[in-house]
Amino acid sequence: MEKEKKVILKKGPGAQNALWHPWIYRSQIGEISGSPSPGDRLSVYGPHKRFIGAGTFNPKSEIVVRILSRTPAPWDKSFFKERIGAAMEHRARWVTDTNACRVVAGEADGLPGLIVDRYDEVLVVQFLTMGMEKLKGAVLEALGEAIPNRGIYEKSDSVSRKWEGLEPRTGWIQKDCGDEATVREGGVRYKINFGEGHKTGLYLDQRENRFLLANLGIKGDALDAFCYQGGFGLHLALGGCRVLGIDIQESAIKEAKANRDLNGIPPEKMDFRTANVFDELKALQKEGRRFDLVILDPPSFVKKKSALEGAAAGYKEILLRAMKLLNEKGCLAVFACSHHVDENLLMQCSLSAAHDVRKDLRVLKFMKQSADHPINPFIPETYYLKGFLFSVSSQ
Ligand code: SAH
Repeated sequence: MEKEKKVILKKGPGAQNALWHPWIYRSQIGEISGSPSPGDRLSVYGPHKRFIGAGTFNPKSEIVVRILSRTPAPWDKSFFKERIGAAMEHRARWVTDTNACRVVAGEADGLPGLIVDRYDEVLVVQFLTMGMEKLKGAVLEALGEAIPNRGIYEKSDSVSRKWEGLEPRTGWIQKDCGDEATVREGGVRYKINFGEGHKTGLYLDQRENRFLLANLGIKGDALDAFCYQGGFGLHLALGGCRVLGIDIQESAIKEAKANRDLNGIPPEKMDFRTANVFDELKALQKEGRRFDLVILDPPSFVKKKSALEGAAAGYKEILLRAMKLLNEKGCLAVFACSHHVDENLLMQCSLSAAHDVRKDLRVLKFMKQSADHPINPFIPETYYLKGFLFSVSSQ
C-alpha cells in the first residue's frame, strides 16, 4: 500500500496557529513523509498525531502547505460548488449596486490560491498556487455550474506564481461573449477589456470607498492621485466636483478619459495628467492650485516586509505634499493596500507629515476593502486595504 502523504507539525505556537490558519511555513514542520510531489494533497497532523486538515504541498514556496479542508473528504466538484456557493451567498447579501464584484477571494473564502471576479456575465479567474493549479479541472467544472456565465478568462499573471514555481498563463478558457464589457458601479459605468490592465480589470476592492467619498457632498475641486481608470474621480465628477486625475501610466489615463466620455462627463469637469504623483504634487503647489478633497491611492509600495522603511518615507512624502494643497478644513483620503503597512504605520506617517507642515487632523472615517474582499480575522493577511479620511486644518 502507498504510504500516506503527510506532514507532522512541530510542537509550539506554530502548531496551535495551524488549527485555524491555512498557511504552514517550513519552520512549523517537524516531519514530511510519503514523498509528496509539488501540488499533491497531503494530510496535516499536529505534534500529537491529531488530524488537523488536508492541504496542498509545495516545497518551492515559503508556505509549504496550504490547508484546504478540515476533514478527510475529497476535493471534488461538489466540494468546490459548496465553497463557491457560500462565497456567492456572502456577496448576494453584502454587495450592492454593481454587476462587477469578486466572487471568490482566496483564503478569505476557504479557497487558498483562487480568485474569481465577475464582470457582468464574464468570469475572470486567477490560479495563484501550485495546489490550486492542480485542482483547476474540478474548480472550473464547479464554477461553470455554480455561476452561469458567458465566458471564463484566465488571468494568472501575478508575480506570486513565480514564487510557486508556475509560469504565467492568460487567455480565454471558454468564450461566448465579446472581448469587452461595460459594467456598472452605482451611477458609474466602466469599460472593461478582458485581459488588459491591472488586476482582473478593475480595483473592485475600492468600490465602497468610492461610494463613501462621493456621498460626502463635496462640490468643489478634487484631486484623484493614482487614479488608474478614473474610479474615484468618475464618482466625484458625477456628484458635482471638478476633478483632476493623475496617473503615471499613459494607458490608464486613456482608459480614464474613455470612461469620462462613457459617463457623459464634460472634459472641463474632469481633467487628467500623465505624471509621477511625487513630482506633480510639487508642480501643483507651484501653480498655486488648491483642492477641497485629495485622494491618495498609491500602489503597494511593499510586496515584502523588508521594503517597509522606504514605503513609510514614500507615504509621508505624498501625505505632506497633499496636505499643502488642501483648502482649510479640506478632506484627505489616504489608502495603503499592502498587508505589511498596517493602520498604525499609516497613521504614524500621517501624523509625522501633518506635524511637519503644521496641520491638525480629525478622522472622519476609517476605511477598509469592500465586502466582496472579506476580512477573516483568523487569517490576518486577508485584511490588506486600509484608509483614513481626514479633515485637515491649520494648527
Ligand atoms: N484609485 C484607483 C486604483 C489605483 S492603483 C482606482 O480606484 O481604481 C495605483 C495606480 O497608481 C496605478 O494605476 C499605477 O499606474 C499608478 N502609479 C504607480 N506609481 C505612480 C506614480 N509614482 N505616480 C503616478 N501614478 C502612479
